[in-house]
Amino acid sequence: MALIVDHEHLGPSEARWDAAGHREQLASFGPIEARRLVVVSPHPDDEVLGAGGLIQAALSQNVLVEVVAVTDGEASHPRSTAATTIDLARTRSDESRVALSRLGWREPLITRLHLPDGSVLAHRDQLDRALAGILLADDLCVAPWRRDGHPDHDACGESALAASRAVGARMLEYLVWAWHWADPEGFDIPWRQCRRLDLTRRARAHKRWATAAFESQTRPLGPGLEDAAILPAPLMRRFWRSYEVYVDEMASTR
Ligand SMILES: [Zn+2]
Repeated sequence: MALIVDHEHLGPSEARWDAAGHREQLASFGPIEARRLVVVSPHPDDEVLGAGGLIQAALSQNVLVEVVAVTDGEASHPRSTAATTIDLARTRSDESRVALSRLGWREPLITRLHLPDGSVLAHRDQLDRALAGILLADDLCVAPWRRDGHPDHDACGESALAASRAVGARMLEYLVWAWHWADPEGFDIPWRQCRRLDLTRRARAHKRWATAAFESQTRPLGPGLEDAAILPAPLMRRFWRSYEVYVDEMASTR
């Protein structure tokens, strides 16, 4: 499936997701029962877009947090001429650190794997080995849903689920691109396996402030069409909600 994002392909509106009424039917999240939250992030922004509320919840419950940054996101603007003059990897890594600090995390612990953006699947072995070396049995691991729709996201989700199962860690999957392609009135998203994390007003405000750090993605890089924002405002609204959704794949197998 190709993910197309432009002004003619903005995906379902927030009004449609609201009207579909899934939110009210989702089981809600209890306290985090883990020593550490490990957030697997394919690109520098996914950890905040998908799990910024959960990171705040973990910090407030004195649960350790670690982000595994799988790629540096250097391939976000493949056709851009402006991108050739910008060190996107460094810019995006810096944005992620600023965003995490805006969640109230003073010194974010980020393990960077530097796998090539866009080619995570081809480097699954490296990712598998890295996660096997990081994850412990009493961790809660969160990673993108294995059917999120971006190849790097899907590969991260698969790898994290396999590594979590191998060590006996709990694992949940967050959604980023699924909100763009899934049908709000349909069952593309496995609602019965999903959990809802409600954000406090304060946590929601912090998350929104954090997402404003990703300027390389939310604003045009340069004047050309190929430099258009990767995440225009209608898409960003999905990440400003008062709740986050996690697929609990293990719920059906435990
Ligand atoms: Zn991503």
